[in-house]
Amino acid sequence: MASENSVTETGNNFVRDIIRADLEAKRHSEIVTRFPPEPNGYLHIGHAKSICLNFGLAQEFQGRCHLRFDDTNPTKEEQEYIDAIERDVRWLGFDWGSHLYYASDYFEQIYAWAEYLIQAGKAYVDDSSIEEIREMRGSLTEPGRNSPFRDRSADESLDLFRRMRAGEFPNASRVLRAKIDMSAGNINLRDPVLYRILHAEHPRTGTRWCIYPTYDFAHGQSDAIEGITHSICTLEFEDHRPLYDWFIENLPVPARPRQYEFARLNLDYTVLSKRVLTELVRQGHVSGWNDPRMPTLAGLRRRGVPAAALRDFVRRVGVARANSQVDVSMFDFSIREVLNKTALRRMAVLRPLKVVIENYPADGSEDLEAINNPDDPAAGTRRIRFGREIYVERDDFMENPPKQFFRLSPGREVRLRYAYFITCREVIKDAQGEVVELRCSYDPETRGGNAPDGRKVKATLHWVAAAESIPAEIRLYDHLFCRPDPGAAGDVFADLNPASLEVLSGCRLEPILAEAKAEEPVQFERLGYFCRDTGSESLVFNRTVGLRDSYAKTQQTV
Ligand code: ATP
Ligand code: MG
Repeated sequence: MASENSVTETGNNFVRDIIRADLEAKRHSEIVTRFPPEPNGYLHIGHAKSICLNFGLAQEFQGRCHLRFDDTNPTKEEQEYIDAIERDVRWLGFDWGSHLYYASDYFEQIYAWAEYLIQAGKAYVDDSSIEEIREMRGSLTEPGRNSPFRDRSADESLDLFRRMRAGEFPNASRVLRAKIDMSAGNINLRDPVLYRILHAEHPRTGTRWCIYPTYDFAHGQSDAIEGITHSICTLEFEDHRPLYDWFIENLPVPARPRQYEFARLNLDYTVLSKRVLTELVRQGHVSGWNDPRMPTLAGLRRRGVPAAALRDFVRRVGVARANSQVDVSMFDFSIREVLNKTALRRMAVLRPLKVVIENYPADGSEDLEAINNPDDPAAGTRRIRFGREIYVERDDFMENPPKQFFRLSPGREVRLRYAYFITCREVIKDAQGEVVELRCSYDPETRGGNAPDGRKVKATLHWVAAAESIPAEIRLYDHLFCRPDPGAAGDVFADLNPASLEVLSGCRLEPILAEAKAEEPVQFERLGYFCRDTGSESLVFNRTVGLRDSYAKTQQTV
């Protein structure tokens, strides 16, 4: 169970305290939570917080967590999203067992409860238009006004409601409303809409229904049907709680779930609105829901973020009732924490500059030993080929270096990782004056990277052999948005970062990387964590995250 515990760890939080108290007071014998996504988009990192909380608490208290699709809005919902959501919850490390549900499974029961309210004089059919209803609802400062249809008889409402179901009326021509209190301070209690007419095909119920319950009328009742004990949702539903409770109190439901709210996750430089994410995909600002720049679980996975890093991040963020904005560098920290322990080290050169080692035998080559993970001796070693011609990183050479630059420059000696000390002897340029090759010498006494005479060098460079290395494309990602609060100035799409994707072609990799698998993270030494892209047939790697945050990198010139 020890490794399971890291999955279940939800950190200390007020919801857990409530659950513990409920169990101690024997208010419940078993904890039942649920994660209720609407299948109208892919899950994102904010949902991960809700998933880890709901599934995590259920695991911790030996209860269960249901996966319930909140599919009450047929026009926006699709099977593709249902499949993606199941895949992503599993990938994140959670399992609902046999407890997979759909709000649409309860349409018949929810409908029966609507008739129950009508018969009890607590609901009525309103023939007003949507605009009229909105207008009569009042505002935060003015009370609402009663609809002229509010006092129609239960029999008339029942008849109209049945005919609504039978498909006699066009979309939006009537609604069913609860009869609560048009002067309530809480607008949600001003005769909320329970059912609307929508002649639309539903992914699961097809054309069986042309009226659909609202979120408010479906959600708490679905919780009750499933015997949910703690219905945990985000703070925007706090004002809906009195309505949630009103339905539970006024209907003959089989259980009395209670709703608790926590603050949603907000991340800087990141948009978590499904509406905006959908538009990013639809308008082609990204390549799809799993574009590695997207905050979706599918995008993060494709970028190489391990599920364990998401769980770790969510745990560090914690669960509170105060809204806050989390720094994305905190997420990067969690990613590096996990990858540092698991990623195999490899060498790759993103922007190759050829180096010819003039005193190395022309046809010679040799195998050197390289360590796969310095933090994990069990990961072993591998052989890397060294030869007369190698590639180093273009950025690791400067012809006229400033004082603090210790890497290659004319006359300067540096270490090649796992190989030798080399000294730059000559710089070859093309007709445009661009450096195209370096001529160097090596010291055969320094094999393995140390000089027997104890002399030191100030830089160690990564490299690959020219002959054996393989070409690849490498994609570097930056924030999708260029301001920490995208959309704060108006148009969120105007804040898209035009430099969020940089594609490097002609990169050179150690040949072993030809067999890399998408799910296996690698660290390219000195460059960052990468993983093979799933969406490409040729060899493409995505950068998951740099080795340290880029602010620190700009401060450091060595
Ligand atoms: P919308 O309702 O606008 O389509 P949503 O993000 O609320 O979008 P849902 O599918 O309804 O999407 O969300 C499922 C669950 O995930 C809800 O319980 C919701 O409270 C929770 N959730 C959504 N976004 C976040 C977030 N940023 N942080 C934490 N929980 C979230
Ligand atoms: Mg929602």
